[in-house]
Amino acid sequence: MQEEVHERHAMERGLRAALDKGELELHFQPQLDLGGRVIGAEALLRWRRPEGGYVPASRVIAIAEETGLIHPIGDYVLGSACERIKVCQRAPCPFPGRLAVNVSPWQLASSGFVGKVRRVIEVSGIDPSLLTLEITESSFLHDLDDATRKIRELGSTGVQFSIDDFGTGYSALAHLKKLPVHELKIDQVFVHELTTDPTSRLVETILGIAHHMNMRVIAEGVETAAQRDALASMGCHAFQGYLFSPPLAESAFMEWLGARQPRAQVRAGAADSKSEHRQRN
Ligand code: C2E
Ligand code: MG
Ligand code: MG
Repeated sequence: MQEEVHERHAMERGLRAALDKGELELHFQPQLDLGGRVIGAEALLRWRRPEGGYVPASRVIAIAEETGLIHPIGDYVLGSACERIKVCQRAPCPFPGRLAVNVSPWQLASSGFVGKVRRVIEVSGIDPSLLTLEITESSFLHDLDDATRKIRELGSTGVQFSIDDFGTGYSALAHLKKLPVHELKIDQVFVHELTTDPTSRLVETILGIAHHMNMRVIAEGVETAAQRDALASMGCHAFQGYLFSPPLAESAFMEWLGARQPRAQVRAGAADSKSEHRQRN
């Protein structure tokens, strides 16, 4: 027990120092459509230890949430993601630009969150519809009205919202329908069930909900062609997972993109994202 507390303190100190010393970085995992076209990416936090190796993101986030470090870390993630979008928006870039970042319920609940996101967007000068904020259903547990107001406010600026790990937590379904949420992410647990438990109807249920609510759907944790094909046959046409690529460091991600995407598609992707935003708002 004492050892555990000691280790946690050491991790907390290490994480604080990591923020200052620039040991945190974002990795990027591509998201693709059925035709194999890259439609966006998810930014995932990585803590590179000086002694080598990465600390798992779930562990970093758990410590950050317990200690309040989630706020400066969240600022770093948001700022870096918008910088990445800006670079792609300005120069010819093999990335369509739509980037998703994970937002902890603690961040959404903080009083300055909306202003912070607005400022980062303003300073970077990006098209807000290229930024997706991934929130989980647990964001609605603490204060439903507060979360609703913030999502509406940011939604009105063009920022997109995605419900991560959809179906694994508490769901305010009736409420979700009234919010400017653009996307549901099918959790990898349900994706894996597709090929291990043929009786499971969960993916079809989620697709039905998304269709009813006029939302996009993306499946995460897609590892096999069988899973992709099963998803596609049910009507899910956007994917993320090891089948296509693991999350990659920025330079490796740009190389991966450069090796597979003709420029013409890049421009079409950015245009699609804008017209889709206009349709929903
Ligand atoms: P998530 O947002 O649901 O991210 C998906 C996780 O699945 C990532 O783990 C990703 O590396 C992993 N993954 C991707 N494809 C596959 C696959 O085909 N198979 C399997 N088994 N896994 C796959 P990661 O990067 O370790 O992140 C874990 C969680 O930590 C994330 O889950 C998210 O909840 C949180 N997280 C990561 N980065 C951030 C961040 O910047 N901010 C916040 N608040 N949370 C973050
Ligand atoms: Mg996510
Ligand atoms: Mg997820």
